[in-house]
Amino acid sequence: MTRKNSRVEWARNRMIEKDIEGRGITDERVLDAMRKVPRHLFVEGNLKSRAYEDFPLPIGEEQTISQPYMVALMTQALKLTGKESVLEIGTGSGYQTAILAELSERVYSVERIPSLAGNSRKVLDSLGYKNVLVRLSDGTLGWEDHAPYDRILVTAGSPKIPMPLVEQLNENGMLVIPVGGNHSQMLTRVTLGKDGHLKEEKMEGCIFVKLVGRHGWEENDK
Ligand code: SAH
Repeated sequence: MTRKNSRVEWARNRMIEKDIEGRGITDERVLDAMRKVPRHLFVEGNLKSRAYEDFPLPIGEEQTISQPYMVALMTQALKLTGKESVLEIGTGSGYQTAILAELSERVYSVERIPSLAGNSRKVLDSLGYKNVLVRLSDGTLGWEDHAPYDRILVTAGSPKIPMPLVEQLNENGMLVIPVGGNHSQMLTRVTLGKDGHLKEEKMEGCIFVKLVGRHGWEENDK
């Protein structure tokens, strides 16, 4: 192992201990996945040196790679066992996609911005994730071809819960999504029971970029 690698790993482990475990994330599988996935490879240039600070960072096109603590919180909320088919809306950098790929059977990820879909595909391929498909389209419509999904994760803030996503949820499935205004949202988990009833839980305040699409915000909404 090169010296540079071991410094990167040191920084990553430190962040996980201090900012992820330190802030109450307890799911060992989530912590292991975060110890493994090299977040610095999902950002460009000199941002790499800040990849193991607990902040969102710019990834171009006015979008951001989510804060590691938020990635951990959302992933833990999904209660993944390794057997699930997961739909992710908002591929962005592909970092959260990689974490999901570590913890589930298969990940279908949808991104609306071509350059981000292209870049994330490249990085995920170079890291050898064979259980991930990235598609360019409006994720508020879901991805009907592979539905139903055991889990759905939306990584952009939405004014409401898009109905197509609820419709593409499997029995006992869960949808995690930030819901609220343009400047702050509430991380919300919707669980579909065997009896067809939906349970909604509000988890934690958060701030995400806009989910732009037919069942989300309009491009120019403020
Ligand atoms: N999980 C990503 C978060 C990226 S930010 C990461 O950590 O890198 C949210 C992403 O959602 C942006 O890339 C944005 O372009 C994308 N997005 C917004 N609305 C979307 C929609 N309707 N369908 C698919 N992707 C969308």
